[in-house]
Amino acid sequence: MPKYASLSQIQAEIQAGKTTCVQLVEYYLQRIEATKHLNAYVEVFAEEALARALVLDKKYKAHPESVGKLFGAIISLKDVICYEGHEVTAGSKILRGFRSLFSATAVERVLAEDAIIIGRTNCDQFAMGSDNTNSVYGSVLNAADETRVPGGSSGGAAVSVQADTCLVALGSDTGGSVRQPAAWCGVVGFKPTYGRISRHGLLAYGSSFDQIGTISHAVGDAAKFLEVMAGSDEFDATTSAQSVEKYSQNLDKNKKTYKIAYFDKALNPNGLSKEILEKTHKTIEILRGHGHTVEAVAFDLLDYIIPAYYVLTTAEASTNLSRYDGIRYGYRAGGVKTLEDTYKQSRTEGFSEEVKRRIMLGAFVLSSGYYDAYYTKAQQVRRLLSDRTAEIFKEYDLILMPAAPTSAWKLGEKASDPVAMYLADIFTVQANMVGIPAISLPIGSDTEGLPIGLQFMADKWCEGDLLAFGHYFQNINVITPSAHY
Ligand code: GLN
Repeated sequence: MPKYASLSQIQAEIQAGKTTCVQLVEYYLQRIEATKHLNAYVEVFAEEALARALVLDKKYKAHPESVGKLFGAIISLKDVICYEGHEVTAGSKILRGFRSLFSATAVERVLAEDAIIIGRTNCDQFAMGSDNTNSVYGSVLNAADETRVPGGSSGGAAVSVQADTCLVALGSDTGGSVRQPAAWCGVVGFKPTYGRISRHGLLAYGSSFDQIGTISHAVGDAAKFLEVMAGSDEFDATTSAQSVEKYSQNLDKNKKTYKIAYFDKALNPNGLSKEILEKTHKTIEILRGHGHTVEAVAFDLLDYIIPAYYVLTTAEASTNLSRYDGIRYGYRAGGVKTLEDTYKQSRTEGFSEEVKRRIMLGAFVLSSGYYDAYYTKAQQVRRLLSDRTAEIFKEYDLILMPAAPTSAWKLGEKASDPVAMYLADIFTVQANMVGIPAISLPIGSDTEGLPIGLQFMADKWCEGDLLAFGHYFQNINVITPSAHY
């Protein structure tokens, strides 16, 4: 159990005089030190976090009502989110030494509400990967079993919360990178609707998929952070102008009986570990026992999601990553004479094998002879998927789906088989293909003690409902009784 499971618990303790921001930062710094071998952090902002904590404690002492909504929240940032004056490298050598010139809009907003950033977390290079073994800083270890991966690409972020080294982690989710590692580390992973949170200052992987998301113990904290980070931003034209709901205040208001769909093909013993299948069915029974409707619906597109996702994201990545040329940012190869060789050599040495594989794949599917056969086809699949998903939401409030087909695999297990790694994303990419919000909630562990997560998706802009459901689920979840939420 973490010492602090929610921001409301922390704020109550501060109010009661039992702790201060400085004491909280000291506690988490000591946890970071004790769990250093997990390799969750690539940089810890110890002095800076302590100094900020001191300032905030003084502010609170002088005028308790003047502190922000996130006062007392100690958070980590995935190494793809810009924080002014701090290094940001996307887990890659090619950005070595690069410092952010500005903070991401999401970062500015959480700082304005008095959150404290304690460090920068490890991740797969450019957020490409599902197990955090594709990082220039080395692999991250899962605290539930240190011979296993934490999931990815936000593996460091998930472990930073799992190992109780901060209260909330900010990550990014292009195809499941917040939800899948959260599931494998036994914590909550939440990704909002595409366009809800600004991507300004988030290093781009697949721009029509990327969203910032949160990893936390409590669903309530996901709601609090969303409320602060969401909303339009002049620096990101894809943000929506829709007003931001008071997600955290509405958590208890939306009580109703839910109509939940699941895909019979997804709950298939051939594609899913036996224990995940059993726990998922058990959870369905629990939900039915509480009066909710949970029904199987036909869904024929499951087999097309992964191929289409990997065509589209590699296409976008090949374009986005062309800016890393050895001239403008970070790493530059030495010993070369011409401009062309500088580009070639810097990219050859700076990117990992996996990143290069995806750039080549993306360049291939966009090349003139193959554009229609791959890129256009994948866009058509995306359209079909959106239409079918929208149809389901006409009848149902939520779609239930496992977060991943297995629990965490052994370190190195998928090292020589990238396609096997891609296929493991089968349940998380739909939400990004369609742009809908999704949450992964812990539903206990398997017999090896490895955490399992269950995912729920809602229609676009229905994160209020999704979070209210998640909060409710966390409180009725008899498989993993929770405390302090
Ligand atoms: N595993 C997926 C990929 O490698 C998802 C990554 C992500 O969400 N950033 O593309």
